Order: sequence, then structure tokens, then C-alpha cells
Amino acid sequence: MIDVHIHVVPPNLPGTGSLAPLLKSAPDVVAGELRRQMQTTGVTHAFAMGEWDAGPDDPLGVNRTLAIASMVPGLKAIGVADPTKTGDDHFGRCEEVLREGRVVALKCYLAYLYYEPAHPNYRRYYELAARYRVPVMFHTGDTFSPLAKLKYAHPLGVDEVAVDHPDTRFVMCHAGNPWMSDCAEVVYKNMNVWADLSGLIVGDDAAFVSAESRDTAADLAHDIARAIKYSERPNRFLYGTDWPLAPMPAYRDFVRTAVPETFHELVFEENAHLLYRLR
Ligand SMILES: [Zn+2]
Repeated sequence: MIDVHIHVVPPNLPGTGSLAPLLKSAPDVVAGELRRQMQTTGVTHAFAMGEWDAGPDDPLGVNRTLAIASMVPGLKAIGVADPTKTGDDHFGRCEEVLREGRVVALKCYLAYLYYEPAHPNYRRYYELAARYRVPVMFHTGDTFSPLAKLKYAHPLGVDEVAVDHPDTRFVMCHAGNPWMSDCAEVVYKNMNVWADLSGLIVGDDAAFVSAESRDTAADLAHDIARAIKYSERPNRFLYGTDWPLAPMPAYRDFVRTAVPETFHELVFEENAHLLYRLR
């Protein structure tokens, strides 16, 4: 099982805080808890976001994530594409990180940062991603920050760049929720767009069993099944959790009920294996 979307460090974005108290802990504490969660859930690979604006020595913000990855077998890093940086020297340093194979994807924090996918400052990241054959992941849909501006995170913005960058592969995180049918249309229409199912329910174990959240989970399960059916692309939906915002076992069980069983092998394993080129 491959979890394409987790956090092991605070994202350092405006208005998000640390996301979860655990992420403020020492690296070995985070690593220990993550190893336990992965083992219990049957997750062999997990991809963790970096942090925004980590300084010139860490152009994609992955050094702290990689330090934790050295203690967790199967953990890999996702670099943060920072649209506020435009210099040639910055992109030279980014390219070095990609060339060394230190990241499996790039992440664009739409809405948290006020740049739409088609903003010119993102273009060089898309070109680098195509050259080094890593996908570009977008935050889409609802956010964790009152400072975020939602218009930047609508799935239709991803359609724009999917057309203009046919050699780049894109992932819409959170399947654009609550715009999941828009997300499904963008996946259906563009052969270079995927969607991850992370972060649709957040909370602890208790939150997953309350009557209210079971009702929410049932609605979401319906939306997910409908999005997969509408898009006709079960090969382009990816399992992800947004851990530690949700416990891995509870989230796995939720996605198992939401995704039709015939597609479990694809969604929990094969699609990510191909997209992220795991060997
Ligand atoms: Zn996330």
C-alpha cells in the first residue's frame, strides 16, 4: 500500500500553524510514530511534503523531511515549489535536488499562496518536473487556513496548465473537495491529470466513529465513487491520507469503503507505483 500524501514537518504556510501537535516533536519521535502507523496499516511507501521557504540551502524545503526519511524505510520527500522565487540561481539549485533524485514530486500550495496554476512563476517548475519525470501535486479544494483564497485552488485552474504542459503530470490533492465533480471532469478530459483522496476526513479515531462523521463519510464515499465512475479513469486516483491529520488505519478503512473493490489494487498500489516510478 502506498500513501502519496502525508506530512512529517509543519508546512510553514501562512495561517496553518503546525497542522498537528505531533509535527512539533523531535524528528525521532515523528519517525517512530510514523513507522508504527505504516506498519499497522500495511503501508510500504509514504510520500511526505516539505516546508515552504526553508532558505537558499534548501530550495525545495525537504531537508527536514529527508532527515526523518532516513529513519523510516519507504518514506520519500515531496519538494515545495515556491512561486515567490524567480531567480535563475534558485532554479539551478532546485534542478540539482531533482537531478540527485531527492524528491519524488513537487507540491504547489494553491490558495495558501495567492498564485493560480497558470501563474508564470510556476512554469519553470512544470518544465523541471517534466524533465525529471516527477509529478506536480496541487493543493485543491478546501483549506486549513482562514488566510487562504479559494479561487486559486479550484480544479479548473489545473485544466489550464494540463493543456499547456502536456509533458508534465499533475495531481489534484484532496480530489478538489468539495468540487469533486469538477475534479472528475478535469481527470476525464486530460490524460496527464491524477487525483489523490487524502484529507477528506480529518480528526482522531473517535472522530471517525461518531454518528456525524459516519454520515459525512457516507456522503464522501458516494462522491468518490461517482467521481471515479464519471471520469472513467480508475487508473488515475491515488490513495493518500494527509497523516497526521487522520490516523492511517481509520483512513484506510474509510477509503476501502469509498472506492469500489475492483479498483482497490489500482488505487492503493499500482497507480502510485507507475506515476511516481517506484522500482
Ligand atoms: Zn496535506
